[in-house]
Amino acid sequence: MKIAIMAAMPEEVNTIHDVIPFEQEVSQAKRTYYIGQFNGIEVILVYSRCGKVSAASTATTLIEKFRVDEIIFTGVAGAVDQQLNVGDVVLGVNAYQHDMDARPLFPRFEVPLTDQSLHQTCEKNTALAKKAISNFIDNKSQYIGNEYLEKFKLHSPSLHVGTIATGDQFINNPSHHEGLKFDGNHVLAVEMEGAAVAQVCEEHEIPCVLIRTISDKADHSAPINFQDFITNVASHYSSGIVREYLKLKS
Ligand code: SAH
Repeated sequence: MKIAIMAAMPEEVNTIHDVIPFEQEVSQAKRTYYIGQFNGIEVILVYSRCGKVSAASTATTLIEKFRVDEIIFTGVAGAVDQQLNVGDVVLGVNAYQHDMDARPLFPRFEVPLTDQSLHQTCEKNTALAKKAISNFIDNKSQYIGNEYLEKFKLHSPSLHVGTIATGDQFINNPSHHEGLKFDGNHVLAVEMEGAAVAQVCEEHEIPCVLIRTISDKADHSAPINFQDFITNVASHYSSGIVREYLKLKS
């Protein structure tokens, strides 16, 4: 079993790198792939960079060159559903490209000539991923310093399972939320890579898991604590959730 872990922020990759023994490094097309083992599972970790093209290119290399059996994308996202709070975790059951718009030729969000807008993640991993996230939340104080649990008011983070909107834009204006909404789908969060990874995985019939920590409410305050949150909180969420997931998988 070979599992790939992708993240769009170097801080997250570094934090995961610190806790899993990686013996080998392979560079290709401006990415570094770290290869190691965790509880008997072969793990490949890579910093994909931000955005749909970067993510799709990295996912394709993981599948074509490294022949991974599964891809986990872990990162941060902005809340579209305002019930979600900073520090909550979203598990994506599907994702769509909110900036895909070939109207009037095709319906909004549809990838032309595919009849498809929503890219599904792997249903058979949902229960395991939910358990891994819950285990992490229950033990969060082992992973994150008290100072940051207080600072970001991470008293009782929750897990939400639903749809993710992906596009090549950092959304930091509530007036843009309405335009992201997709009729009939409960859109939880917005980010810049998930649907690209899900589409590539779907086309190659490789299971994928999308896990996102809410870093902001996709409003004017979104960039303010962003870097502090990534470095001191989200990177530890990623590393903790990935470890809990790999433990359950092994
Ligand atoms: N590296 C830069 C830019 C980060 S872009 C920096 O540190 O400032 C934002 C990243 O976080 C993307 O990978 C995206 O997936 C995610 N993200 C978090 N909040 C987002 C939001 N409100 N809108 C879009 N992407 C968001």
